[in-house]
Amino acid sequence: MKNLSELRQDIITGEWVLIATGRAMRPQFFRKKSVTTEASRKGCSFEALLPEAFLVFDKKGEIYHPTPKIINELKKNWFLQTVPNKYPAIRESAICPVPEKRGLYEMMEGVGFHEVVITRDHKKSIGLMNSGEATIVLRAYRARFEALKDEECVEYISVFHNHGSEAGASVFHPHSQIIAIPVIPQDVSRSIAGSLNYFERHKKCVHCEIIHFEIEERARIVYENEKFIAFCPYVSRTAFEVRIFPKIHTPEFESSQDDDLALAGDALRAVLRKLYKGLRNPPYNFFIHTAPTSDGMYYGHYHWHIEIIPKTAVWAGFEIGTGIEISTVAPEEAAKFLRKIKI
Ligand SMILES: [Zn+2]
Ligand SMILES: [Zn+2]
Repeated sequence: MKNLSELRQDIITGEWVLIATGRAMRPQFFRKKSVTTEASRKGCSFEALLPEAFLVFDKKGEIYHPTPKIINELKKNWFLQTVPNKYPAIRESAICPVPEKRGLYEMMEGVGFHEVVITRDHKKSIGLMNSGEATIVLRAYRARFEALKDEECVEYISVFHNHGSEAGASVFHPHSQIIAIPVIPQDVSRSIAGSLNYFERHKKCVHCEIIHFEIEERARIVYENEKFIAFCPYVSRTAFEVRIFPKIHTPEFESSQDDDLALAGDALRAVLRKLYKGLRNPPYNFFIHTAPTSDGMYYGHYHWHIEIIPKTAVWAGFEIGTGIEISTVAPEEAAKFLRKIKI
């Protein structure tokens, strides 16, 4: 089968779909159940420093670009490695894709980057790490984000983490993924249009306003430190959804300084640990929403954040047919529950 990767745009809604048939060829696809269980540590392909690793962090958070000279030392000390995805949903190309017409329809080639960020310990998900370790994960995201941002065809960089097979993790070993794509995805453009609209009407960032209101009301806060706040959104889409925001207005994730990331890492680890303890290691997805990387566009009204979405329900007929998700636990109750869990 041809390794097809193309972005198709819905001519009615403008939404993109990535058709990536090469992904189905990955072996995990066929032995999903066995590789996602903890028992499969033996033979776990992420256990060792992989030859294709191009960015490595040691336990102290020092960054290395592996060379033959230091590889043996790194094999002992590595904490985190970034590798290209072996079965990419999107492929690298020196030529930027151009929108094409296919009769009535619109498409462009699925060009971009697909990387995997692997931490060393087979069983230590981010919720089980200490704050320093969780911060190294965020620093790795930032390092790759900064590098991919300079790639010519990249319009948006999606950083995400799937935990548990029900949340789409095909490999048990803790890992995150980064996919850089040549279009701005619909969820991001909708969110940006909404925050721009609010900014034009009120001359204020809607996210900053929400943060102030949440701090005042205190009904939905899950965790807070000096620079970051985590709360269950008023309009939670799923039970126990949590969002983490920098308290200071910051449009771009990658502009976060080291001390900001240290507190972001503290908040991320705190929320994931609360979910781990409170809901007994539920499957979840988390991802970063941040300003697109498009040159010449101004996204000063946007405010980067992390969204954590536990897999507490499946989309059924109503959700698929309407886009309205049914959350079975009120965000106020979920926040109250998570707030009380000691970490
Ligand atoms: Zn492993
Ligand atoms: Zn803001």
